[in-house]
Amino acid sequence: LEIEPADLWRILKASGIKYVKFIIVDINGAPRSEIVPIDMAKDLFIDGMPFDASSIPSYSTVNKSDFVAYVDPRAVYVEYWQDGKVADVFTMVSDIADKPSPLDPRRVLNDALEQARSKGYEFLMGVEVEFFVIKEDGGKPVFADPGIYFDGWNVTVQSQFMKELITAIADAGINYTKTHHEVAPSQYEVNIGATDPLRLADQIVYFKIMAKDIARKYGLVATFMPKPFWGVNGSGAHTHISVWKDGKNLFQSSTGKITEECGYAISAILSNARALSSFVAPLVNSYKRLVPHYEAPTRIVWGYANRSAMIRIPQYKMRINRIEYRHPDPSMNPYLAFTAIIKTMIRGLEEKKEPPPPTEEVAYELANALETPATLEDTLKELSKSFLATELPSELVNAYIKIKQNEWEDYLTNVGPWEKTWNIITQ
Ligand code: GLU
Ligand code: MG
Ligand code: MG
Repeated sequence: LEIEPADLWRILKASGIKYVKFIIVDINGAPRSEIVPIDMAKDLFIDGMPFDASSIPSYSTVNKSDFVAYVDPRAVYVEYWQDGKVADVFTMVSDIADKPSPLDPRRVLNDALEQARSKGYEFLMGVEVEFFVIKEDGGKPVFADPGIYFDGWNVTVQSQFMKELITAIADAGINYTKTHHEVAPSQYEVNIGATDPLRLADQIVYFKIMAKDIARKYGLVATFMPKPFWGVNGSGAHTHISVWKDGKNLFQSSTGKITEECGYAISAILSNARALSSFVAPLVNSYKRLVPHYEAPTRIVWGYANRSAMIRIPQYKMRINRIEYRHPDPSMNPYLAFTAIIKTMIRGLEEKKEPPPPTEEVAYELANALETPATLEDTLKELSKSFLATELPSELVNAYIKIKQNEWEDYLTNVGPWEKTWNIITQ
């Protein structure tokens, strides 16, 4: 039941929308947008919106910069902005000859899902987005509230902010299921329920836009940086996944043990985790989260109720219906991360390799267990020799590795505050 762009425009106009925000997603998963009054937007819905593709990584170069973004009628969210209603519409990108761009993250995920469907597989995914809501004090980020896990006093500075945020996303049709104060001071979690992976990725981007925007109204900063403060928990984006075939959930079990297919999928994720890391934990800073004792995974193992394992199997009275992959953090480009996860799980279902036995002990210091990559550079090396490097469009993999390698080198050569405060005194 797909709606045509021209009909979508008519519906938006008739429902009082005043502006359309066209969203193009860049290679980092960040939204880029142009706002157009509804009447001016009519032709753009039909013919596509032109933009400078050399100014949005990594679509094109300056000499071939005219690209077109086509609205995706499946991806419309309504936000309230000043005195006019705004419709946020996600797009898919093509070049001037109408060739779909292999560098468009939405397109890449869309293609991966179509490929999965052609093999008979449907994926359902949900996510727990963790983030900090902080204040700036003389240019320095500081905690805005002293809250604790499941804080029940509801008197923190952010309660008004959270109320406005969850109301705004629910009004926009985000499948928001619950929220709580997380373990660290000023840390929150919002859960988005299981849905189609492309829809989920759009909802994560939209959620981050709203969180940042609404926080600013309260003089706060919402950050999805994985480890903003040393010494307290970082922020994860635990991803819940089930795979369906012929209308049946392949991971469904009521025995308290995982199904065979679930084991195959787990086995593939674990054996490719060091390469997957470049998509699910994409920042230099991501690797400061993946350290022992902060509920983030450091050993590539799975377990049942084990929150120190990389994959946990959530159970509700012996019933299992999904896996929880705890490796991702909220700085991931969700489109690329989900694409990599889906391709890896399908590979597992085809290879049919049994997973290792579940880990029951606390995993942080397990001997003989493979570790998560220590740095961004380590995972990029793993990516370039992984099956993912040939499975994904080569233009995309090359551009991604180049951008991320530059980030790593920039970090390495930067003389940072740690060196300044420590070495200037001691040397
Ligand atoms: N904040 C932890 C992480 O970095 C997870 C805490 C939890 O289990 O909710 O993944
Ligand atoms: Mg959590
Ligand atoms: Mg979780």
